[in-house]
Amino acid sequence: MASGISPVYIGVDIGGTKTALLACSADGRPIHRWRFPTPLSLSAGLEQLRNGIASVAGRAPIAGIGVSIGGPIDRKRGTVSPLHQPEWRDVPLRDILEEHFRCPCRIEVDTDAAALGEWYIGGVRESPLAYVTLSTGVGGSLLIEGMLYRGAEGAHPELGHQVVPNEFGDPEPVRCACGALNCLESLICGPALERRYGRPPAELPDSAWEIVGRILGHGLRNVATLYAPR
Ligand SMILES: [Zn+2]
Repeated sequence: MASGISPVYIGVDIGGTKTALLACSADGRPIHRWRFPTPLSLSAGLEQLRNGIASVAGRAPIAGIGVSIGGPIDRKRGTVSPLHQPEWRDVPLRDILEEHFRCPCRIEVDTDAAALGEWYIGGVRESPLAYVTLSTGVGGSLLIEGMLYRGAEGAHPELGHQVVPNEFGDPEPVRCACGALNCLESLICGPALERRYGRPPAELPDSAWEIVGRILGHGLRNVATLYAPR
């Protein structure tokens, strides 16, 4: 361990499209950032992760690593199986990083990590707080006075996999990666929109966003009905 250099904390966000890394000081001040496209291959992904963490830490000792990743995760075993990365199934990511870097590692579902960030660092102190992400996937979480709502055995609620009316008017329902038909995520996540329109979501016409907005509205109405967030 390097001496005389303040330890850093590492934040890792493994997304379906890109992976972002951050080294920060004990008081949360960002020091180094790095990002790279998330490889499809598990072995390449883990290698880039190890190299990237070492790179952003530089010569500083690592005090701890926090990882946010798409669900599902198994908190007891520290394993991850992000739905959008088919090669990543039951990967013991916590143990892999703890053994490699000799420091504690915590893993959280990405939307839960983002909601906690909004509460503790973003200063959003409304409760209950419903947080929804629209990205490679669609997810959400619920904070009650800054504490994550957990389901049975620590399960994470999957807001993106509620079934909603398909406002695209498809003759056949859309089958989601989870197996259900017309999940919110299967209709309006980034890759689904790109497949449907043949171009990146950023280039969609307003008429497409009107439909996406109506579908998202169905999902948010359900969230509001069930959780009554502030
Ligand atoms: Zn689904």
